[in-house]
Amino acid sequence: MISVQDGQNLILARVSTLTPPELVPVSHALGRVLAHDLTAPFDVPPADNSAGDGDAGASGDIPQAGLRELLVVADLPAGATFEGLLQAGESGRIMTGAPIPQGADTVYPQELVERVGDRVRVGPIAKGANVRPRGEDVRSGSVVLEGGTRLRPQEVGLITSLGQWQVVVRRRPRVALLSTGNEVAEPGSPRTPGQIYDSNRFTLRGSVEQCGGEVVDLGIVPDRREDLRARLLEASRLADMVVSSGGVSVGAYDLVKDVLQEIGGIEFWQVAMQPGRPLAVGGIGPAHFFGLPGNPVASMLTFMLFVRPALFKLAGRRQLFPEMWEARAVEPMRKKRGRREFKRGVLQFRAGSWEVRTTGPQGSGILSSMVAGNCLIVLEEDRGDVAPGETVLVEPF
Ligand code: AMP
Ligand code: MG
Repeated sequence: MISVQDGQNLILARVSTLTPPELVPVSHALGRVLAHDLTAPFDVPPADNSAGDGDAGASGDIPQAGLRELLVVADLPAGATFEGLLQAGESGRIMTGAPIPQGADTVYPQELVERVGDRVRVGPIAKGANVRPRGEDVRSGSVVLEGGTRLRPQEVGLITSLGQWQVVVRRRPRVALLSTGNEVAEPGSPRTPGQIYDSNRFTLRGSVEQCGGEVVDLGIVPDRREDLRARLLEASRLADMVVSSGGVSVGAYDLVKDVLQEIGGIEFWQVAMQPGRPLAVGGIGPAHFFGLPGNPVASMLTFMLFVRPALFKLAGRRQLFPEMWEARAVEPMRKKRGRREFKRGVLQFRAGSWEVRTTGPQGSGILSSMVAGNCLIVLEEDRGDVAPGETVLVEPF
């Protein structure tokens, strides 16, 4: 038996090369992983500019009490610049975003300004009010985004605010998926009485895509040595990572281990966890291999725990593990010491705190528990039964 954490460390140690960088247009960069640090070539905004509509003037020019009349010598809609220098007694009409004219340091908002012909009457406000300073968003020369960052809409926008229309990201890892088992039938085709429809390949497909990978679907392989061997070899030629489900327990038809020993290398682990004990980890040529258990909850969970961090590392991501939170258990939970248990939970905020309960029956074949839940309840190795009111760790889906 090995612990979840030891397993994760051993797996991450095997992933030493990342997918290569590639240049993509920013319009296709969402969800991709930035390959290198991104440094700002200039300040954003590039100049002090107005935070509102009004009149720009010099605060030193305005008396501390009472009003002062200024001559409006410039009209500055957004995008316009003032080439001259404002003199004492002068102001410029200015709109949001327009650069502050030289000689001015404050914008007197439209609502506070009295307009009389080509003049305005203004009273005192704080120096610098309604001025957005140059570089307040991004400073020239600073690292705005670190390599390994996954790009969300806001990161993409920040990149384009620097004038860039292309960005260097890591190629999406290719992940070949296959299901094993004579009993597994393809959805949409008839099934014999002894068969069940494939769910693993589809939860895994979604999981891979959610993690920024690209799926190569290799279908269902029956429990026949030659078929499995041929399909796994094909998979290893097409992908960076090969993930199968089923066939890793110790049944007579659990062939993954034997075949992997012939065509690659494999370690066969019993992980101290529930659900999802058996796990096969290895390689076929340069491709990483993961043999996940067949039970639907176990295969999805072992993906989350072992494949996802490896996929993230391969993809160059900096953060490999999700954040965990604390919540108060509102029901008793059975827990065996010495292994890490993962229950599907419903997390909700009630009466001022985060509460969590299980989704009900926790069998590793009950995929609907993943649907009913919105988090995993993570019960650590050294923990025993949980009483209501105790604090537990949760990992939101
Ligand atoms: P195995 O590890 O191959 O012994 O499979 C364990 C359990 O998972 C069995 O009940 C299988 O029928 C089930 N199973 C295996 N593969 C899949 C799959 N792709 N989709 C749904 N259930 C599966
Ligand atoms: Mg099987």
